[in-house]
Amino acid sequence: MTESREAAVDLDAIAHNLRTLREKSQAPRALAVVKANAYGHGAVPVARTLVAAGADMLGTADLTEALALREAGIDAPLLCWLHGPETDFGAAIARNVEVAVSNVEQLDAVADAARRATASDVSVQIKLDTGLSRNGAAPEEAGALFARAAEHERDRALRVSGLMTHVSNTSPEDDREQVRVFTGLAQEARSAGLRPELLHAAATAAALRIPEARLDMVRLGIGLYGLTPFDDETSQELGLRPAMTLRARVAAVRRVPAGAGVSYSYAHRTERETTLVLVPLGYGDGIPRQASGAGPVSIGGRVYTNVGRIAMDQFVVDVGDAAVSVGDEAVLFGDASRGEPSADDWANAASTINYEIVTRIGGRVPRTYGEA
Ligand SMILES: *Cc1c(COP(=O)(O)O)cnc(C)c1O
Repeated sequence: MTESREAAVDLDAIAHNLRTLREKSQAPRALAVVKANAYGHGAVPVARTLVAAGADMLGTADLTEALALREAGIDAPLLCWLHGPETDFGAAIARNVEVAVSNVEQLDAVADAARRATASDVSVQIKLDTGLSRNGAAPEEAGALFARAAEHERDRALRVSGLMTHVSNTSPEDDREQVRVFTGLAQEARSAGLRPELLHAAATAAALRIPEARLDMVRLGIGLYGLTPFDDETSQELGLRPAMTLRARVAAVRRVPAGAGVSYSYAHRTERETTLVLVPLGYGDGIPRQASGAGPVSIGGRVYTNVGRIAMDQFVVDVGDAAVSVGDEAVLFGDASRGEPSADDWANAASTINYEIVTRIGGRVPRTYGEA
């Protein structure tokens, strides 16, 4: 590693994870979710890798993210599903980005943009809310949305290619109930004259555990990055390889006496004479301050717990009498099968989930794509 800190991303692991999840889910198609800068891993290189590894489609939350992939020259099928009143659907049509609409206003805006562009082959998907109470049309709104979509189809403004929903991971029963509601709504859509060929509901968790949710396509996010969506099954047990290794070079080493205060508020004091090591990563880089005194770090093959408050740019590790030098590598998380701490360990230390740990790694940390 040449930088003082880096998030090393193993693109081979991401390709492996896609293949593994496809095999396990047996779904006919896979959409690879690369929103939020590919969960912090770097949207463009990750998207390229996933397309080469056989993803049928890429997905982002909003159109801005999708257009950035087009700008980078990625021409694979792309779907985005979270829009506001400012969303420029004309830009989506111009760059061949498919959108999933949640209401009549969005649908009409796409139809208007299609007419203005005199585009003849605009397809949209419809997002249905079957329980999360977030975006998507509620079951009682769906009928009006289907009817309006059928009108636009008759006018040849657009075509509805798919229907999507998102499940809550509350329990298998709750998820199955959402899928039941969803397939009922799909029937309603067909009765309204639509012919959506792509029904999709499952993200990583449901793709792995709720066969009824797999339908025509699964939408894979966290599992592609080698992390588990479950509390009771590790990524290793799922056959996934964590793609991101977060590491830094030790910036300072200091021998201190017993009773030395460490970092702000002296939240930690050394119990005896010891060696303190400074790691140049902090909450400015997305290391949760919440994990002060709890987050693990591997240095020289041993795993320690950080001491004192995690600051904006740095935190401290007490290595006792171990021989650690400036420039040595400190690994915050990586692949547990190599004996490194995991993103899950940091999530537990900060009372959050692995998704948040990797996604929040900040812009000051260079992403590198060489050998792990
Ligand atoms: C983020 C997202 C996913 C991916 O979820 P994971 O749990 O990371 O697999 C799938 N579908 C939608 C609609 C999403 O917003």
